[in-house]
Amino acid sequence: MNFDLSIKGKCILSAEDNEVNQIVLEHTLSEQDLPFVIVSNGEEAVEGWQALDPVLIFMDISMPVMNGIEAIKKIRELEVGTGKRVPIAALTAHALSGDEARMLEAGADYYLTKPINPNLLLQKIAEITDTSSTRAIL
Ligand SMILES: [Mg+2]
Repeated sequence: MNFDLSIKGKCILSAEDNEVNQIVLEHTLSEQDLPFVIVSNGEEAVEGWQALDPVLIFMDISMPVMNGIEAIKKIRELEVGTGKRVPIAALTAHALSGDEARMLEAGADYYLTKPINPNLLLQKIAEITDTSSTRAIL
């Protein structure tokens, strides 16, 4: 995938395969100050993380090609020795019990349940990225 490298180090990366959820994410993420990129599977999420060095990743769990759990594990594996750790918030369907433990075990820092709640999403972004100082960089 080709990523816009001008937003490297100051964007949010979101991996989500469902079109409706992608639209919700797009609408919601447009309301905040940071640029964002939406990819549609775990493999692209790993690629996007490598290319863009995002300040935060929203990771859907159930995705084709590479699921969110695998992608989180891969990113955590590749981070070893770099001294860096990107905050990852996993997104999962409410109905699937046991998901939360799996996500945290894989290396997610937070989890949000679906359906996506725009307010909670924006709250999480503000909380994790300290938007006021990030805004100064932009
Ligand atoms: Mg999915």
